[in-house]
Amino acid sequence: MKQAYLDLAALPQPAQPKPDELQLRVARNRKRSNRNSSLKREANRMALAAEAHRLANIDTLTEDAQDTLKHLTRRLGSCSCHSLYREHLGGDQPLEYIGSATCKHKVCPVCNSERSKRLRRKWLTYLTAHPELTTEYDLMHLTLTVPHTAASGFRGEQFYVMTLINIFKELRRAPWWKEHVHGGEYGAEVTRNANGLHFHIHSLVFVHKSLQNRNELHRHILLSWNLATLDHTAQRQQFGPDDLASIGKGNKQLTPADLACLLPQGSTLVGLESLYTYSDKKRGWSEKWDAERGQWKQYVNGKNLDSLLSGVMECLKYHFEPFSLRKHDSDEYDMDLLVELLPKMKGKPLYQKFGAFRGVKELNINAPKTAAGEAAELLADFAHEEIINPDTLQEAERDEYTYFIASTASVYHFRDTGLRPKIGKKAPRLYIHEARNMAQALRFMIDLSIHPKPV
Ligand SMILES: [Zn+2]
Repeated sequence: MKQAYLDLAALPQPAQPKPDELQLRVARNRKRSNRNSSLKREANRMALAAEAHRLANIDTLTEDAQDTLKHLTRRLGSCSCHSLYREHLGGDQPLEYIGSATCKHKVCPVCNSERSKRLRRKWLTYLTAHPELTTEYDLMHLTLTVPHTAASGFRGEQFYVMTLINIFKELRRAPWWKEHVHGGEYGAEVTRNANGLHFHIHSLVFVHKSLQNRNELHRHILLSWNLATLDHTAQRQQFGPDDLASIGKGNKQLTPADLACLLPQGSTLVGLESLYTYSDKKRGWSEKWDAERGQWKQYVNGKNLDSLLSGVMECLKYHFEPFSLRKHDSDEYDMDLLVELLPKMKGKPLYQKFGAFRGVKELNINAPKTAAGEAAELLADFAHEEIINPDTLQEAERDEYTYFIASTASVYHFRDTGLRPKIGKKAPRLYIHEARNMAQALRFMIDLSIHPKPV
């Protein structure tokens, strides 16, 4: 409270955020709240679909398959059921979304979004702190795949992701790799198409700058990958008349002798490109239409850090969509695929850093192991912010707001009110008026929840 004898204006004042910054902060919180509620509703739909699938196939599913589905239903159903909101008293009682106790399941939409956010934030902080990484190296997106068939997969193996990962690991031992590549990271992704399970590797690589570095590195990878992925049972036993010419077109450095070395039974699917982003709208002249995605592809400008970071984020995005959860020809969830893959994927290192980034602690993305760590991580998002009323943008005192715990599925956001969070009238909520501050409220929420191990 102001005191008449003290001239507050004469004292050094901490920098006050401007009203438009506060408005932005409110908008960000609403967007985040909306995203979490939508993803939680999707997690609920998936949980219900898993249970429906189990009940519909109860006579044919094995005990293990049923357990996988039951576990999936329980985890996804519980995700974000305990979420913390701050409710401002008086007026229209505006809400702020603070955070959720999550389920940590590999296929949970909420948790995948959280993991993706954590990874992006870590890379953003790391690259901003080490700008030389973006000036000394060219950042590229490497995609590696192998041909496979529905009948025999790859080399007779249907679940060949670890084989793929190991071949890539072996390839990174080559002297030419070390000469060209400073470091990077990769994630393995799986989809299912008419030829069975389709695994591929998406990798972000930091390549030493030099003229023609892309073509030189691509040539080395292609020749090695082709030999290392030789599969005698491959469908392609001979190259078609245009195959080699079209491979040659992709890289000017490939000589006729190189092309003659390529084996038709080995993979020739190696993508190495500058980083790119996708957008629904065409913004400039340089975008290319990607018919498969139905979006415009834009290569990023390596000299502009913001642009480069967008490309890095796009590349990293793939690591958190390890499954294509829906059938490729419909909107239905592919429960058979989940039942088949989940037990096999358990504990598999599908995301790794390599080269100079291996062991860099700042880039570790593991979820906090303890409840206290989880609460601390959520708190860190708000640590530097004073509490403001989202409607009036005025600083709020402790007796002007309270906290409650509810499921994000019961909170709705409508475009015509600028995504203002609104909780269903009858939605169950647990008020924690006693919490002295957000840290206590968060800790209470986390302690109330089961702290599940990542799956
Ligand atoms: Zn979850």
